[in-house]
Amino acid sequence: MQAHQLWQAVLGDMQVRLSKGAFDNWLRHTSIVGFEDDVATVAAANTFSASTLQARYVGQIEQAISDIVGRPIQVRFVVQHTALEADDTPPGGNGARSVPGRHATLAPRKERERARPSGTERSPARPGGDHRPRAAQPASSEQQLPLSSTPTHGLNPRYVYENYVVGASNRFAHAASLSVAEHPGGKFNPFFVHGGVGLGKTHLLHAIGHRALDLWPDLSVTYVSSEKFTNDLIKAIRAQQMEEFRARYRTIDLLMIDDIQFIAGKESTQEEFFHTFNALYQGGKQVVISSDKPPKAIAALAERLRSRFEGGLIADVGLPDYEMRTAILRGKGEELGTRLPDDVVEYVAQRDQSNIREVEGALNRILFLAQTTERPLTLDLAMEALTDTAVGARRSQTRPHDVVESVASHFGVAVKDLRGRGRTKEIVGPRQVAMYLMREETGASLVEIGQALGDRDHTTVMHGIAKIERDLGTDTTLRANVMAIREALFTKGGRR
Ligand code: ADP
Ligand code: MG
Repeated sequence: MQAHQLWQAVLGDMQVRLSKGAFDNWLRHTSIVGFEDDVATVAAANTFSASTLQARYVGQIEQAISDIVGRPIQVRFVVQHTALEADDTPPGGNGARSVPGRHATLAPRKERERARPSGTERSPARPGGDHRPRAAQPASSEQQLPLSSTPTHGLNPRYVYENYVVGASNRFAHAASLSVAEHPGGKFNPFFVHGGVGLGKTHLLHAIGHRALDLWPDLSVTYVSSEKFTNDLIKAIRAQQMEEFRARYRTIDLLMIDDIQFIAGKESTQEEFFHTFNALYQGGKQVVISSDKPPKAIAALAERLRSRFEGGLIADVGLPDYEMRTAILRGKGEELGTRLPDDVVEYVAQRDQSNIREVEGALNRILFLAQTTERPLTLDLAMEALTDTAVGARRSQTRPHDVVESVASHFGVAVKDLRGRGRTKEIVGPRQVAMYLMREETGASLVEIGQALGDRDHTTVMHGIAKIERDLGTDTTLRANVMAIREALFTKGGRR
């Protein structure tokens, strides 16, 4: 497959995922200008588009491209004209190759990954890091992609034990997982990890895979999200290729399946998973499962699956304490190759009480501001980056119910309707705005947000928030509404 064909496929996929407005605004005019070491370089028309893509859509784009290629692919954004003038490539030559200094302002996360010592790439296929020449291969959209002959284990090179911080909240899960990685198919089978969003379950699953491969390079290791498992299953059923599906999954030595809660309620998927699971288990293979709750708390999980899970080892990951948040921030700083000032680390660690993903997000916002404004990393800058919308201060004062009330009064709808079952446009829109604002303005979890809105499922909440986030990019009326409600909340909070 050629790079530009790949990008066409990604665009096709994104067109389905995004609203038309968002797609036209941010993606329609992008192109792929390089593909090297599983990093795709994508050119946007200007800095604003590139930073919006980075901030808002990189996750979905990486997922789309990874799904198509069949292994984790990272995406970095460049600005077409900037890259061209910084490079020696003749005009028209599509030459946005590697311009690290320029890219750094657009892709802080990716740059940090690049800055990581080569030892963190754990794939056994490349001992000692990556020795393939980079510069020798000028990027071009005609470039042939190395789409086969690479491992299909689905492991993300970022998620390894080396950068997994251990603290009180994950000590047991960490120790147990190491034992699983070192003795796959041993006594901890299946190994079931559970805990809230952003607490390191996915990271741990990948780390197990990397470590097991380090120790047993011939092991057949596969990481899948339960979504991918389900999709593969559905595809196999449609194409009448169940034999292949079974053969593929049942020859795996170490299968990690993430977010199993998503298959709850899907009977045929659970059924097939149960058979896959039994086949592996009886063959002495290792199964590792993650979920947002312990097996007994997953409603609509087939009883026999539940008891299978409970027959293995169950470990939970909890909220990180202050010390752990500090250590995580320092670690991220090291990956970046900078020592973050102590006061910045302290500020971020004490401010953010919640999950690790948010701690990282806060740090990313700070780094992004520092890089785009070319200012040094100081406490002032950190505070500016994190409080320009005064979120930190308001969060502790704003309760989910305040948000529901403000949204209801702003749109002139009844609170009971927001919490009710009605699905008309007039209610669904405000309800999603309420989800979004609760997420932004209170410390509420997805589950708590769902509860505040009449016991809605957390995945519904997640989709609602994602929808508003997408629409905010293009819908000026929505933006004005959200701003006005924020104002109202803010004045209310200030009076208290
Ligand atoms: P979950 O799957 O539980 O939602 P993730 O594994 O995706 O959470 O973690 C969210 C982010 O936090 C990831 O970027 C991950 O690398 C980071 N992270 C989570 N736990 C740790 C940890 N103990 N040490 C360092 N980084 C962590
Ligand atoms: Mg996860």
